[in-house]
Amino acid sequence: MIWSFSLEVYGAKITFLRAEPGSRPSTEAIADALSKTKFKMVTITHVDTSTGVLSDIKAVTAQVKAASPETLVVVDGVCSVGSEEIRFDDWKLDVVITGSQKGLGVPPGLSIVIASPYAIQTFKDRKTPVPSYYSNWSKWLPIMTAYESRKPAYFATPAVQLIYALHTSLKLILSQPLETRFKKHAAVAADFRQTVRNLGLKTVAQSEEASANGMTAVWLPEGVEVSQLVPALAGKGVQIAGGILQGLATKYFRVGHMGISVMDDDRQHIQKVKDSLVSSLNELGYKN
Ligand SMILES: *Cc1c(COP(=O)(O)O)cnc(C)c1O
Repeated sequence: MIWSFSLEVYGAKITFLRAEPGSRPSTEAIADALSKTKFKMVTITHVDTSTGVLSDIKAVTAQVKAASPETLVVVDGVCSVGSEEIRFDDWKLDVVITGSQKGLGVPPGLSIVIASPYAIQTFKDRKTPVPSYYSNWSKWLPIMTAYESRKPAYFATPAVQLIYALHTSLKLILSQPLETRFKKHAAVAADFRQTVRNLGLKTVAQSEEASANGMTAVWLPEGVEVSQLVPALAGKGVQIAGGILQGLATKYFRVGHMGISVMDDDRQHIQKVKDSLVSSLNELGYKN
């Protein structure tokens, strides 16, 4: 939904493909939409932070490109880059947008954009003026080209300290094969979902393959409120989040399991989260 709000600000006319909370739009629904309209762009949220649902961006992109090779595929990877497998070139993605503060484990403040040559060419070919001053690739591309050839150039001051932090994080991430990182996130996420099931609870994501690997949303048991559970865990040094889905926000909670907490076993972060969740629910009167 964040997509739609921000795109509408810039004048986009949007066709929504909705799915019930916890599920994803069906292949048939996507095919039907693609057959009715020639889209300039299809946007996909890789991991829906509000529900922990993982989109199959590889399959959706293949479907879009088969129906309409010119259509750009743009992925919101804010909650997925660093914790979900993304093969930018192989999957023929055009743009992935992310932030520094989630799977990359850097303080907030950077908006990181990866664009394909086709996406950049599409931008260069556009006829309508860009309705933004700072978010304008034609302002930034010459700066980046200059940096790459080690020449100073100025458009606006970058957040230098965050770029150093990003560099440090990326070095750490790339110090082992990415395959290892993705497998570890998948294993920790599957184990966390098993813990949830063992408690007799249900995840919001309705199937294993549609479950994110960096976070999980869980329906609360009858009689336990978010306003009790969040402070109970906070008292044990564990920060979880309430729900944010309109109309259902008070019915579930969300737990992040990504980045250093997953990759560095010595920290015991995930074990602590699981133990604290079990004991907090017991203290709040939930008997499984
Ligand atoms: C966190 C998140 C956002 C919002 O990111 P901000 O940096 O807070 O603007 C957008 N999309 C997804 C999928 C997210 O997880």
